[in-house]
Amino acid sequence: MSFDIAALRGAYPALAEQVHGRSLIYLDNAATAQMPLCVAQAVQGLELRRGNVHRGIHALSEECTQAYEDARATVANFLGASPDQIQFTSGTTDAVNRVADALAATLKPGDRIAVTRMEHHSNFVPWQQLCQKTGAEFCILPLTPQGDLDLEAAQELLSPGVKLVAAHSSNVLGTVNDIHALARLTHAAGGALFVDGAQGICHEPVDVAALDCDYYAFSGHKLGGPFGIGALFCRLPLPPARYGGGMVDQVLDLTTTFGPAPLMWEAGTPNVSGAVGLARALEFRRNLPEGWQDWEDGLLERLEQGLGELERVRILGRPRHRSGCLSFTVEGASPFDLAVLLDQLGIAVRSGHHCAQPLLRWLGVEYTL
Ligand code: PMP
Repeated sequence: MSFDIAALRGAYPALAEQVHGRSLIYLDNAATAQMPLCVAQAVQGLELRRGNVHRGIHALSEECTQAYEDARATVANFLGASPDQIQFTSGTTDAVNRVADALAATLKPGDRIAVTRMEHHSNFVPWQQLCQKTGAEFCILPLTPQGDLDLEAAQELLSPGVKLVAAHSSNVLGTVNDIHALARLTHAAGGALFVDGAQGICHEPVDVAALDCDYYAFSGHKLGGPFGIGALFCRLPLPPARYGGGMVDQVLDLTTTFGPAPLMWEAGTPNVSGAVGLARALEFRRNLPEGWQDWEDGLLERLEQGLGELERVRILGRPRHRSGCLSFTVEGASPFDLAVLLDQLGIAVRSGHHCAQPLLRWLGVEYTL
């Protein structure tokens, strides 16, 4: 292989750990990835010399403000966006809810929001609930039998009236959606495209301009960053969904004017060390040795091939472009029992419905590995 996998593994303290007396084999990255040491050090460095951001003018406050805004610039750069289009969130779920809250006032009966059948609950339930509250129609875009988004069917469903389409790459099937094609269809119908990048950003370089999406959200902890931090790119002006200190211009007795983006989106003291850790994780990924994607694709191929040779194993979906993960079941065996057995061997996998019940129902299974 073209790069030194041992050196790369060495950057992650958790990968030297033992579990049940075995060397850890960590395959649960779609849920949460391990953290490189340099990220933990960046978080600690910030926490041990800190001041509140955008508030004080003493040295520590200014240093932290600078570190926080540098982190925003790193995120913007990673996505091909500008810093004033980036708000820090607590993760993808928070980002979806922020956009849904902000859009609530503009939706009315007759409007439509569409999500794909493969969405994680985080990119499904907030939109479903928003439609219930506003009287807008909630619509689910179907998949092909292989587990790809059915773009032809989507085209029909995205007739005028659609306000927003939410899509991503699947944390269950590993399907990578053709976001650019979906953006074209969504925009032709007059809607905006929200991309849940929680999985996608971990496996592909992202350029929001090339994808032509209107919103892009992701979580730090799936990229080796800290828990409780993520980012949201907004191409379109979005009113604030949270109110409080740090985001205002003038507070009068009965009215308030807000500061400029991105500060108007970030009420209260933000997760500064999380943002700095996230930026460090993105830099770490930017500097991964060349060939990491081939290595990762090779592992997935090997897994798919090996599992495919086992008689009682059913691999879910055969998408045109699968990346990062796959799911399977074993006839006659519970995914939970299998996960416990694998754990005894030091192998961490995810078992359950993966927060994607609408997809699993369609696949005719309740749980997978
Ligand atoms: N979307 C997808 C596709 C995911 O895989 C996940 C996490 N499993 C989420 C959204 C939610 O991310 P978080 O829990 O970090 O908010």
